[in-house]
Amino acid sequence: MVIPLARRMQQVRRSFVREILKATASPDIISFAGGLPNPRFIPVQKIGHAIQDVLRDDGAAALQYTTTEGYPPLRQWIAGQYRAVGLDVHADQIIITSGSQQALDMLGKVLIDPGDRVIVEDPTYIAAMQSFGMVEPALCAVPVDSEGIDVEKLRLVINNAKMFYCMPNFQNPSGISYSASRRAEVINVLKGTSAVLVEDDPYGRLRFRGEDLPPMATQLPGQTVLMGSFSKIISPGMRLGWICAPMELIEKLTIAKQAVDLHSENLGQRVMHRLVSSDFFPGHLQQIRDAYGRQCDAMLAAIQRCLPREFRSTRPDGGMFLWITLPPKMSAMELFKRAIEKKVAFVPGDAFHAHGGGENTMRLNFSNCDEQRIEEGIRRLGEVTRSSF
Ligand code: PMP
Repeated sequence: MVIPLARRMQQVRRSFVREILKATASPDIISFAGGLPNPRFIPVQKIGHAIQDVLRDDGAAALQYTTTEGYPPLRQWIAGQYRAVGLDVHADQIIITSGSQQALDMLGKVLIDPGDRVIVEDPTYIAAMQSFGMVEPALCAVPVDSEGIDVEKLRLVINNAKMFYCMPNFQNPSGISYSASRRAEVINVLKGTSAVLVEDDPYGRLRFRGEDLPPMATQLPGQTVLMGSFSKIISPGMRLGWICAPMELIEKLTIAKQAVDLHSENLGQRVMHRLVSSDFFPGHLQQIRDAYGRQCDAMLAAIQRCLPREFRSTRPDGGMFLWITLPPKMSAMELFKRAIEKKVAFVPGDAFHAHGGGENTMRLNFSNCDEQRIEEGIRRLGEVTRSSF
């Protein structure tokens, strides 16, 4: 018997990145494919001690059912972080989610009807397309350049759009960030429309060059949803993130979450609060930023040394990824197949495009490997390009 699937499942694809991750799990492959933090910066011992402390101090309360919105002190801590960058946010506006991925799912359910226009960046985060895909929107992809979204093209499609989903800091996949002037232009385009601006910012705390810019939400209160994550700064396996939204959306978002998992893991939220509010956290963040800055620079230098001059790379100021554009007719997928034989992996860029294109682009992660392995991996990639072209 052929089981008749729901229509939505015919639209959505498996994430190509997750497929590649399976193929590149073997330790002899140098993988620039995933979006994994460097395991050196997952604070295993600190987490262990925090678990013991929470169990000692909170006992069964840490292992009980709890509220959907999440552990109040953690929500207060997040609100405090936003207030420090000029956003007038109250803890009631924050829901703790099971990774920021869940925030995408909640937003899709609360805001999007089938056929609604959702504007995404081109390229964009694959699993955002996957998550929104479940509610069958009409995705509209607008190109980004080195300073952010193409504002003129955004202006052409913003009317009747339900949502503009963007990553203003160290975008996944390209590593680019929105400049101050581009942020101001985006705010101008969105003002007065009914499109909700979604600023997805899991990488914002990972800046290793330049100055932080305030979220666009500071200029568009009431129209912006912010998403954040503990995955890149503490541990992705703990699956904790958050969504910060105008009060009128919070109740609906809470219902959308309740229907899926009642609440995010209670013990983990308390442990996370201990970690991020302790003296250890600022130094920990600084260590990650310094190391990723060095790793990014090692990758950029190796690219310059080992890859053909025609391969153009972005130069990220933070985050975990850089993006290479090959000469127009070259296929990153072909390069990928040969690279795997040399035991080095990356993600061919076409998967990040909602409407195809980008066959000559690729995403490289620089956070997961130390500098030596990065240099060796790019050297192998250089060999592949020389033997292929
Ligand atoms: N948004 C973006 C842009 C991401 O890159 C990721 C993870 N790769 C997520 C959201 C989801 O992260 P998490 O669920 O681990 O918080």
